[in-house]
Amino acid sequence: MREIIIAIDGYSGCGKSTTAKLVAAEIDYSYIDTGAMYRATTLYFLENHVRLTNDKEVKEALDNIDIEFKVNAKTHESETFLNGLNVEKQIRKMRVTEHVSPVSALSAVRDKMVAQQQKMGKKKTVVMDGRDIGTNVFPEAELKFFMTADLTIRAQRRQAELNKKGQRVGLEDIIANLEERDRIDTTRSESPLRKAEDAHLLDTTNLTIESQVQYIIDHYNRVMNIDSVEN
Ligand code: C5P
Repeated sequence: MREIIIAIDGYSGCGKSTTAKLVAAEIDYSYIDTGAMYRATTLYFLENHVRLTNDKEVKEALDNIDIEFKVNAKTHESETFLNGLNVEKQIRKMRVTEHVSPVSALSAVRDKMVAQQQKMGKKKTVVMDGRDIGTNVFPEAELKFFMTADLTIRAQRRQAELNKKGQRVGLEDIIANLEERDRIDTTRSESPLRKAEDAHLLDTTNLTIESQVQYIIDHYNRVMNIDSVEN
C-alpha cells in the first residue's frame, strides 16, 4: 500500500492536534506533535534562564536538549520527554504557552527541530501537525491541510480544554495569547506560518471534531484510491 505524509498546519487553537491525533489513529499512522517539541525547548530555556538574544547560550542549550515521544502504556497517548523526563503536563501550562513563539522564531531552534522532524517522518506513515510542515519540513508531503477558525471560538475551545485540566484562565487572556502567537508565528523571518499553495483550507469555526477528521480521511481515501463509501 502507498505510504504518505499528512501535514497539518494552521493558527493556534484550531484543533490541529486533536484532529491529527484522531486521523492518525484511524489510519494507523504515527502522530507527531511538532508544537510539543518547541514547547519542550521553551521549558528548558525558561528553567535554565537562557537569554534569547545570546547566541552562545542558545546554542549551548540546544546542544543539551534531547526530546523524545513515548506512548503511555495506560492511556495509549504520546507523551513528550525532555532529557528523559516526562514534561507533557508542564509544556501545556500558560507559562510555556506565553513564551513559546519567541523561542520558536529563533533560526537555531528551528534548524534543530526541523532536522529531527524530517528524521521522524522519513519512513512516511506520519500525520505531523505544526506551523511549517507543509511549507518547510515536508514541502513534498502528499496531503496538506491548513486549519483556521474564528478567534473567539478558538479561545473558547482552548479555555474548555484548560478547564478540563484544572487550569482556570480568563477568556481575554487566552484571546490575547492566541493573537500574540499568531502575530509572531506569521511575521517571523524563519519559515513563517502560511498556507502552502497546495494545502486544503479547513475552516473549523462551525465544524465538529468528527467532521474535521472525516474531511481529512475523505482526502486520504481519495489519494489512496480507496472508495470512501462503505460497501
Ligand atoms: O501547536 P502548538 O500550539 O502546541 O505550538 C506552540 C508554538 O510552537 C506555536 O505557537 C509556534 O510558535 C511554535 N511552532 C512552530 N512550528 C511548528 C510547531 C509549533 O513554530 N511546526
